Amino acid sequence: MSWWSSLRRQWRRPAPVPDALWRSTLATLPFLATLSNAESVRLRHLCEHFLLEKEFTGANGLTVTDAMAVSIAAQACRPLLHMHGPDGHPVRRSADLLDWYDDFVGIVMQPGAVLARREVRDAAGVVHHYTEALAGESMDGGPLMLSWADVAQAGERATIGHNVVIHEFAHKMDMRELSPGERPMGAPVLPDNFLGMADRRQAAEHWHRTMGEAYAAFREAVSMSERFGAEAPWLDDYAATDPAEFFAVTCEAYFVNRERFGLEFPTLLALYGGFFNASASALQ
Ligand SMILES: [Zn+2]
Repeated sequence: MSWWSSLRRQWRRPAPVPDALWRSTLATLPFLATLSNAESVRLRHLCEHFLLEKEFTGANGLTVTDAMAVSIAAQACRPLLHMHGPDGHPVRRSADLLDWYDDFVGIVMQPGAVLARREVRDAAGVVHHYTEALAGESMDGGPLMLSWADVAQAGERATIGHNVVIHEFAHKMDMRELSPGERPMGAPVLPDNFLGMADRRQAAEHWHRTMGEAYAAFREAVSMSERFGAEAPWLDDYAATDPAEFFAVTCEAYFVNRERFGLEFPTLLALYGGFFNASASALQ
């Protein structure tokens, strides 16, 4: 599969993103301003392949413009910049990093948040119905949905650590290697030699323990704020839903406000630095 997609990528030459469009895209996304020239070139190259491989559909009367598609591509590809492939090994060509997102093609763009009907069964067996406003949604092997109204605020919302595109694509990374019926757990495939650990089991245990402790501390902070009026934690309390949401919400903040993220989650700063290979930022 990987060999085939790599070969296919060599045959299909993507259309270049025009200079002016690339510059205006970066200008609206301040968290990409810190990239070096070499990183920006690599990101643009990833975006061109991303745009070739994905199909955007506007729903409810929305027309998806080139600027919208390039903006989403840039945000979706930012986490990939220095990564390993989804099998944990280094990739031969940078475009093969898109294998992380190869379980789907369609990206459905909605003009705004989508109201989804939900139901929960409580301890007494009573089913409660409610609606939830979704800014994005991703499912294993299926298309990804994004609300343009939310994506368009990426620049302003970076200070509060929000980014709906990175959130949904982090879920996609977390959903790889799932068996039918399994749910993502905030435990994506780690790179070879993760944080200098040659033993895969040791690496997985370190990931699990560090994530578990940070998640428990976050849930505690949310509950202290809800029950005793303590100051609310920096990130959305939606991150306290389950380990998969905690992973997705903290990935957003890691990429769009690294400074504050490091103060709030020092252990995750090191952990994500190993996963996303942050130390490889000096690209040739
Ligand atoms: Zn989510």
